[in-house]
Amino acid sequence: MSKRSLNNTSSNTKAKKSKYWSLGLVDAMKNPDSIVKKTEHCVIIKDKYPKAKIHYLVLPQDNISSIYMLNRSHVKLIEEFGKLFKEIQDEVEVTLRAGFHAVPSMQRLHMHIISGDMVSPCLKTKVHWNSFTTDFFMLFEDVQQQLKENGSIKKISPELHKSLLATELQCNQCLFKPKNMPQLKEHLFIHNK
Ligand code: AMP
Ligand code: ZN
Repeated sequence: MSKRSLNNTSSNTKAKKSKYWSLGLVDAMKNPDSIVKKTEHCVIIKDKYPKAKIHYLVLPQDNISSIYMLNRSHVKLIEEFGKLFKEIQDEVEVTLRAGFHAVPSMQRLHMHIISGDMVSPCLKTKVHWNSFTTDFFMLFEDVQQQLKENGSIKKISPELHKSLLATELQCNQCLFKPKNMPQLKEHLFIHNK
């Protein structure tokens, strides 16, 4: 086999693997061990790599790939996301936030429901941190309002995407600016005693 066809085979395999990986949420929606709650239109699952003590994902049963596919016909669905968020909030003592990543990595529309502690062994990188603590995390309320007013969700520019994920680290509960992730993770314990 020529070098070029070997390279093609390996890049095809990589593309297939990454496509398969990005469909992991669709598989998780069918796995009883992952499911927290199920309704006619939605499923709530546990995030497999939680970035805080409580971290769930709300997904539609319908095959909608992301928030950028939403239109006015989905307002009712998004209202149901809000209702499910409220139900989960009512079940726990701590304050939760609900929102969507501006540039999701996984297929099938999903809304994160996450607690503010951000204490988890799966939270490892600056990108993880900034994806939940900057405007990269589009709050449910803002997305719902945008959908009702405009009938669609506006994409962020590649420049904003890059700069949000590169934002200087700052604690989400005080003004402390850690030098790196290990320092931030150690600092978070002060807030979670
Ligand atoms: P994002 O696409 O950036 O909004 O985030 C995708 C989320 O899905 C991340 O929080 C991951 O930890 C989570 N995740 C990745 N694979 C799985 C899986 N197989 N089951 C449940 N959650 C997953
Ligand atoms: Zn702090």
